[in-house]
Amino acid sequence: MFYNRQRLHSALGYVSPAEYGRRDRAAGSVVQCPRNRGQAQCQQRTPCAKVPPGKGVQRMSNVSGSVRLRPTRIGLLVRPSQTNHQLIRQFLRLCACLWGGRYNPIIPVARTLPSEWARRLPRNTSGHDLADGYIDFFEPDVFVEAEPGLAQELGIVSERHLERRVVPLSEFILKRETRAPDFAFGLNIFDVYQHRYDHELQFVRRHSPTFAAFEKAHSNHAFFELVFGVLPTQKDIAYIGKGYIDAFQPKLLVPTPESAIEALRARHGTPLSVTHFAIDRESGSHSDVTIYFFDSSKTIDVIDFWNLGLWKMNLIPVEISWARTFAPFLLDVIKKNYRPIPGNAFGTMHTTHVEFGRSISNSAARAAASLLRGVPDGAVGYSLEYVQPFWAKHYSRMVTRPRPVRLTSAEEDFETTVDSDATFVTVPSLAPEFAQRFGAGENHARWSNVIRISSLTDVQERAPIYPTNVRNADYPRISFGSTGGIVTREGFVFPQQHMRLRNSLNLKRHQDAVIGWLKTRAIEAEVSSAGRNAEQVVRSQGGLGSNILAHEGTLQLLDRMAKTVHESKDGTAAQFPDRTARISDWKEVVGRRREELPRIALSDFTDRNIIRLGVAVSCPRCEQENWYDLNRVDYLLQCERCLGEYNFPQGDLRFGEQDWRFRVVGPFSLPNFAHGAYSTALTLRVLFSGTMTRATMTWSPGLNLKRGGVAREVDFVAWYCEDRLVSHEREPAVVFGETKSFGSDAFQAKDVARMRELGEWFPGSFLMLSTLKRQISPEEKNRLQRLARWARVPRKDGTPRAWVIVLTGNELFFTWSVGHTWKELGGKHAQVAEREGTHLGDLATLSDLTQQLYLDMPSLESDLGRRHRWRRSPARREG
Ligand SMILES: [Zn+2]
Repeated sequence: MFYNRQRLHSALGYVSPAEYGRRDRAAGSVVQCPRNRGQAQCQQRTPCAKVPPGKGVQRMSNVSGSVRLRPTRIGLLVRPSQTNHQLIRQFLRLCACLWGGRYNPIIPVARTLPSEWARRLPRNTSGHDLADGYIDFFEPDVFVEAEPGLAQELGIVSERHLERRVVPLSEFILKRETRAPDFAFGLNIFDVYQHRYDHELQFVRRHSPTFAAFEKAHSNHAFFELVFGVLPTQKDIAYIGKGYIDAFQPKLLVPTPESAIEALRARHGTPLSVTHFAIDRESGSHSDVTIYFFDSSKTIDVIDFWNLGLWKMNLIPVEISWARTFAPFLLDVIKKNYRPIPGNAFGTMHTTHVEFGRSISNSAARAAASLLRGVPDGAVGYSLEYVQPFWAKHYSRMVTRPRPVRLTSAEEDFETTVDSDATFVTVPSLAPEFAQRFGAGENHARWSNVIRISSLTDVQERAPIYPTNVRNADYPRISFGSTGGIVTREGFVFPQQHMRLRNSLNLKRHQDAVIGWLKTRAIEAEVSSAGRNAEQVVRSQGGLGSNILAHEGTLQLLDRMAKTVHESKDGTAAQFPDRTARISDWKEVVGRRREELPRIALSDFTDRNIIRLGVAVSCPRCEQENWYDLNRVDYLLQCERCLGEYNFPQGDLRFGEQDWRFRVVGPFSLPNFAHGAYSTALTLRVLFSGTMTRATMTWSPGLNLKRGGVAREVDFVAWYCEDRLVSHEREPAVVFGETKSFGSDAFQAKDVARMRELGEWFPGSFLMLSTLKRQISPEEKNRLQRLARWARVPRKDGTPRAWVIVLTGNELFFTWSVGHTWKELGGKHAQVAEREGTHLGDLATLSDLTQQLYLDMPSLESDLGRRHRWRRSPARREG
């Protein structure tokens, strides 16, 4: 198949990654300044302002990150009905035949939410909300459908190019002509058996069995499939069961409560535990021992217990109907576990938690709990109450939510260099060393590589993060050719088919990434002229984090130098060229800034082509003071006003600083604070580096949006993540910006309405409204308050409609960090900044605090906590 794939590529006109690399290198990396049209190499440290975005200048950039090897995560889509109990057991048996199979989630697709799952959820949660919650929580690489149509019902696109992401459960076993049957997804555990037999077990005395196997399943309880794994009995894959017996010579047990206890007590290896081979499991939640009573004859409990094991470790499973038989074993577990926590000075002890499945009635739970009497006080804690479902979202982003167990079989850091113009980044791939080199041809997802980018030097060019696309991986297409990569909170996931293929990661340009994504939301977008200016300003200032423009006096001076436009009553506009500024004016501004930024220099502005030095000469005829750029100064000069020619006054200069003057360049010459570009650049700077941790961001400058017949403008769009090295794995926040300069009535009704509309188009997004002013007028405040109140209304899942963030000059002109500036401002600002746990890198917090500071709103916590009513948690049913 490997060779077929290459043939296929050439047939489709694909160019191999290696070939692309060669082409890019052949294009060379000579830095040629487009302004000079190839006459000479540009000597400037940064490209001049006239460079069109992404073109003209080729640079090499460094990309570094990590690749992680883990098993393929296969999600089963199934209706959670009691009649599907057998079908789910069939899937569980297949999981025992797959590497990492214990970590394949079961996703219940219910039309209406079963009452057992409705508790502690917002009232109107639907069956599909539940399925969506599970998908967002587990983010499966591929799906198996218990019946046709379930994937489509959830909006999962099943076919990608030539590869399937969804396979019917009935077709999961692939029959092959020349070799033994294999699977549609995942790595056959037979490879592990073989490897362990070859490398470890054949040399070991195998008389005292440390492995066990249950040859048959229990007639009506799924307990053995869930806890130990039951060997397959289907004819096609019976060879796998035989392989287990040959490799491990297990003790063969019949499925009874007693044998279950024996296997748990002796910690026998089982078909399911062998699927963890060579996998390091890291739990996202605390790891105290939990005894879990459930009814494995009930579909709902089967699904719950199986999925519980995907995010919680150290579970002791107990079939409720066998509770009496299990009791002595459980008492031993509790007593053994009741020991001091190592290194804890207060003598705190480990305790055992006891939880009950959602199908267990209150009286049954109490009866089971009564069996555990006679242990020391405090050795065991019961959760009779229903806990909030693990997948449910919470309006406070600061609340720690469970996360799935992180599986790692191998991990490697990489560092690579790419041309800025190369279409993709080549990243090494990792494969399990025990895997057969080639799998079944149709199985393109035998294992997965998870790629994370930790640094990207051309961060201005290439977008490092994207919204997740687990349901439809068509956008963004992050992989090259037909291998279907997906974007998840874990990173970029590349399902793998063979060993020793490299991953080609297609990182789009910032704007293209955003515009393409908007297109998938039925919005046509193009960069606006304001957007182009803002982009040039960001580029010239030296990237998003540059502080060169973050100073009111500097912006005022730049604006005084800009062009002026006078509009007369009849609508005609007269434009006056930009003015010059004295060197002393600039020295004065830079001098003032030195108090805070000792290293700032006038050359920071000239090197970045913000201002340019020229010679000021008065025309002897009309006395107009002309300004000549150093390229244009000559012995014979032409006057700008009277157009007369005159000689350079070689003897009549003042021979001092007065002969020289600065002028603004490119976008900096535009009136009205570069048409709002300064405000946009400074707002993006707050996002990018306003907090102590540096954010990872994908951004687009101003866009004209068109949705249906409606046209709207936005000043920037960004996807934002707090520093990914530190923060939990989280979906990027979507941010829309409306940025204003110093205008007295800056936020007008139409601006606020437009932002609200964006909030309606993109529920859950962040609406950032900013101004260079320090004060917001009462009228503006009124309008913004209305917007903020609208945004705070909780949606169905309990999270707000949108998050309004208001920024003023206080934030936009920050020196070290927004928090630091707030502390210096004193008063209310200092109060919120000094509050414990205030972390402004979390945009929800920034939203909350800026609304309190500038709009006098109550805290989000008090407001939402009041508005948001959780479905009551009723006592367990009696029965
Ligand atoms: Zn003149």
